Amino acid sequence: MSIRTTCAYCGVGCGIRATVTGEREVRIEGDPDHPANRGRLCSKGTHLGETVGLEGRLLHPMIGLKRASWDKALNLVARRFRDTIARHGPGSVAFYVSGQLLTEDYYVANKLMKGFIGTANIDTNSRLCMSSAVAGHNRAFGEDVVPASYDDLDAADLIILVGSNTAWCHPIVYQRIAARREAGAKLVVIDPRRTETAEEADLHLAIRPGSDVALMNGLLHWCREVGAIDETYLAAHVATPEGFWDEVGEGSDLWSVARTCDVPPPDLRRFYELFAATPRSVTMFSQGVNQALAGTDQVNAILNVHLATGRIGRPGAAPFSITGQPNAMGGREVGGLASTLAAHMDFAPEHRDLVQRFWASPAIAQKPGLKAVDLFRAIGEGRIKALWIMATNPAVSMPDAGRVREALAACPFVLVSDVMERTDSADYAHVRLPAAAWGEKDGTVTNSDRTISRQRALFPLPGEAKPDWWIVKEVARRMGWKTAFAYDRPAEIWREHCRLSRYGNDGKRLFALPDGGAGGNAAYDAMPPFRWGGTPFADGRYSTPDARARLVPVTQKPLPAPLRDWPMTLNTGRYRDQWHSMTRTGLSPKLARHREEPLVEVHPEDAAELGLADGGLARVGTPQGDSIFRVALTDAQRRGELFTPIHWTDRTSTGGRTGLLPRPLTDPHSGQPGFKATPARIEAV
Ligand code: SF4
Repeated sequence: MSIRTTCAYCGVGCGIRATVTGEREVRIEGDPDHPANRGRLCSKGTHLGETVGLEGRLLHPMIGLKRASWDKALNLVARRFRDTIARHGPGSVAFYVSGQLLTEDYYVANKLMKGFIGTANIDTNSRLCMSSAVAGHNRAFGEDVVPASYDDLDAADLIILVGSNTAWCHPIVYQRIAARREAGAKLVVIDPRRTETAEEADLHLAIRPGSDVALMNGLLHWCREVGAIDETYLAAHVATPEGFWDEVGEGSDLWSVARTCDVPPPDLRRFYELFAATPRSVTMFSQGVNQALAGTDQVNAILNVHLATGRIGRPGAAPFSITGQPNAMGGREVGGLASTLAAHMDFAPEHRDLVQRFWASPAIAQKPGLKAVDLFRAIGEGRIKALWIMATNPAVSMPDAGRVREALAACPFVLVSDVMERTDSADYAHVRLPAAAWGEKDGTVTNSDRTISRQRALFPLPGEAKPDWWIVKEVARRMGWKTAFAYDRPAEIWREHCRLSRYGNDGKRLFALPDGGAGGNAAYDAMPPFRWGGTPFADGRYSTPDARARLVPVTQKPLPAPLRDWPMTLNTGRYRDQWHSMTRTGLSPKLARHREEPLVEVHPEDAAELGLADGGLARVGTPQGDSIFRVALTDAQRRGELFTPIHWTDRTSTGGRTGLLPRPLTDPHSGQPGFKATPARIEAV
């Protein structure tokens, strides 16, 4: 008998039918009835069955290097957090969590930190992935809502991919785009690199990194010049700040934009003409937009174009932020970010009051907490004295990861709950707690188009592993909050989450889940995938106090000239068949065949000038650190730019340590670090 569940990897959120064939063996097939993938799976999803073995798993609580009972470990954790709070205040503790958590895990962790410990020092690795999209949505719509679905791709006549190698990073979405192209839709890719996705496009604009605002403001200006602005929609549904058109129009003529973006004017004109003439346009964007020091402005530049042309809330017309992780969206819904509360609320007094009443909480957080980069900086400065890392590996994935390691080494108490026994971050843990993995966990995830799906357990919990929600609630109960954390199963948490989404919701917030009480546990167990929010903003009413969306006047920041000592620009990203720091995909020999080692991609003319040989070794350095990569020459790179993958760690390679290289600098609105344009240099070794 097959069990319906959801893929463990990316934000596409593909449905799976899993048939258990042995003790830790499972046959994986795409779920033909899941709306995200309609039976298809990419290479990572297909090979999930190769990654469910127990090799390398953490199966027992550990205090230091010694095995401990759950009771002893949990009591120690609760005591360390309690004592730290008593001596230094609630702001001296923090959780760093993950888009790999299920919504129920995320909900309980957020509730403990923000409602009971009383600080918002809980942030998530989703900060690194899509927090600029969150900030942009909030600025434009008054709520963090993705106003698109995969169905819009099926109805679009023009699909624009900005900063997204969709063919590799969201393959099933890309298949959907490819199918739509067969029906005549056009594809434009905007990306400094000629990726596999760009190779296939009708038009590729290889823009200078960081020039996205100029490109989109130029498009807005063009639409105004040719009469493609929807004045009726603007008048009825959008607030346009005074001076907006002058601000975004400055330097937005075609020739100026072509110069700023470093693209041929005829190509730029073709894009603008295509967009202006195609009402059913979807602009899908991803990390290339979000992971920038002006990421939020880049998001709003895209949203401005769609609002001003009325291309939103209608089939085939939408801006579409696509997330990296399987449950980045679920984390947003429960308030897993330090800058949000719960159920799409923020720290406004009425929201704090509402959530506090609902949770009957003793000490609701009064203001946003430390965002990821600031959080690890605070650890390094000794301001955070107890840290809980759940299901993520910041010693590899944070920018300036070398500094993050120093901070972890100096932190008086580090707790890591994870499925793997050894990770780069777990090396710094005083206590390690064994968490349930994909195939053992039970709960829900939300994908990029707001579809909520069940992940279901296929195997019994191995060793002494426990679900994350159970671990959090046991710590909370030992810290003294027994009643508020009296959960026995994830269905109870789901129902509470549903109730909170509706509690005090006067209809201004779109986020409202079905009646959490209806159907009880049986309904939860049988819950089919569903998308909340319908077609957001179809009625032209937004989640702002006056129900109007906002055009945000964003302008292109000057682009830095190359530095003498760091003349190259480093971009980082993913490979097709690997996931994050490879703790799971690294277990599949078939997936490893796609790219067996970390490469630095270099333009051949740069390589000739620098004496780099294809297949040779080179040291890539930035002011933060350096690491050695194998050189791959490709004219898919722009001159002066490098690309390295994010996956390799100390455990998997002696080089290829991309995390050491990016700067710990962030977007001022979202706190998202910029991974896409780090000043760097490269030399042969
Ligand atoms: Fe899994 Fe993403 Fe591949 Fe779908 S596209 S099978 S969710 S990795």
